[in-house]
Amino acid sequence: MIFEPDVETMSREAMIELQSARLHEMVSRVYEQVAPMRERLEEAGIKPSDIHSVSDLSKLPFTKKTDLRDTYPFGLFARSTKELARIHASSGTTGKPTVVGYTRADLELFGKVCARALAGGGAEPGMILHNAYGYGLFTGGLGFHAGGESLGMVVVPASTGMTERQVMLMVDFGAQVLSCTPSYALTIATEFARQGVDPEDIPLRYALVGAEPWTETMRAEIDSRLGVKSVNVYGLSEIIGPGVSFECVEERSGSHINEDHFLAEIVDPDTGEQLPDGEEGVLVITTLTKEALPLIRYWTGDITSLNHSACSCGRTLTRMAMVKGRTDDMLIIRGINVYPSQIEAAFGGIDELAPYYRLLVDRTGTLDELEVEVELSEDAFHKVAAEFLSDEIVEADHLLRRVRDRTQRSIRENVGVSAKVTLLEPGKLPRSEGGKAQRVVDKRKLV
Ligand SMILES: [Zn+2]
Repeated sequence: MIFEPDVETMSREAMIELQSARLHEMVSRVYEQVAPMRERLEEAGIKPSDIHSVSDLSKLPFTKKTDLRDTYPFGLFARSTKELARIHASSGTTGKPTVVGYTRADLELFGKVCARALAGGGAEPGMILHNAYGYGLFTGGLGFHAGGESLGMVVVPASTGMTERQVMLMVDFGAQVLSCTPSYALTIATEFARQGVDPEDIPLRYALVGAEPWTETMRAEIDSRLGVKSVNVYGLSEIIGPGVSFECVEERSGSHINEDHFLAEIVDPDTGEQLPDGEEGVLVITTLTKEALPLIRYWTGDITSLNHSACSCGRTLTRMAMVKGRTDDMLIIRGINVYPSQIEAAFGGIDELAPYYRLLVDRTGTLDELEVEVELSEDAFHKVAAEFLSDEIVEADHLLRRVRDRTQRSIRENVGVSAKVTLLEPGKLPRSEGGKAQRVVDKRKLV
């Protein structure tokens, strides 16, 4: 179903008109209410009266994460803290977090865009939503919670952890929709298998996953092991949290952007020039309606592309491709640009491997060295273990070497870099639950 059909199926002309009016109003508001942004606009020689339509967007300066950090905690807020209803913060691995604020109207908007995402992913009023995103400063848990309520679902605020108990509740309550990170979806799948839960026997049908980059290989695994159709939900706390864009269950081919609230552009990461449909670059978003933290041309750092073509679900909202990586996750290895998702895609077709991996980058002398740690699938591990136990050590060793060589060759052919592959037993690598998986350890930066 479509949650807000009047907007989600609006004609392109009407959408541009709506966005243009909102953009002018938003820039005026920022100019009046956010001192550091007024200074920025004045430096660029721009007055709100210069911005009439979306075609004027490229005149405006970018806002970056460092701008939020430099004005920590509330410097870019357009409202006083008294007027806020909630504050969230993203977990910085070092230093201060990025702080975001919401008025009551912002929270209502947050619920609505997440309700659109849930409806797009197959959810309907009255269905039971098992929400296994982390509740807390992270926006995932409370965002989907509000979305479920806004849509009229029955929300189970499971949060993360205690997976054994979560699976019991999913089975006993008859959850029909699951929301969580893709890696946690697989953790739940493993627990299904351990407890002997057959997905065919339970009402679970849909999964809304996101908050970390994932691939089609992972999607196939989530779908088959949980008995669901899984869709991607994209978002970031700076813009609102989850619900910036979402895949429809009909096509599952690109995420529809809630562009009546979030105006999206793709720009060249080096020059900042706008790029046409289909070309990959950095996603830049301008919030059109948010009150507490309106952001002009926010540089998300996520690499993707846009697609304005019609979709069979009936929505006219522009679609963005699955995020390929982040500009700040991009590794330069011996002069070659490498995204973790490319490595993942390169070993995705190898049955003996599970989609849990970590990239370790180091430098010996002047040469960059890439090591890929990847877990064996449960099946492959049991096979190797059985051969070891029955003293078929040569056979087991042969199997491991074959998988390792194939993986190394696939990475070299598909990504263009040489990597040393280390195979690990299942469960060796840390799992992300509420937040985002740490998939890269760049030791070159530690020295
Ligand atoms: Zn669609």
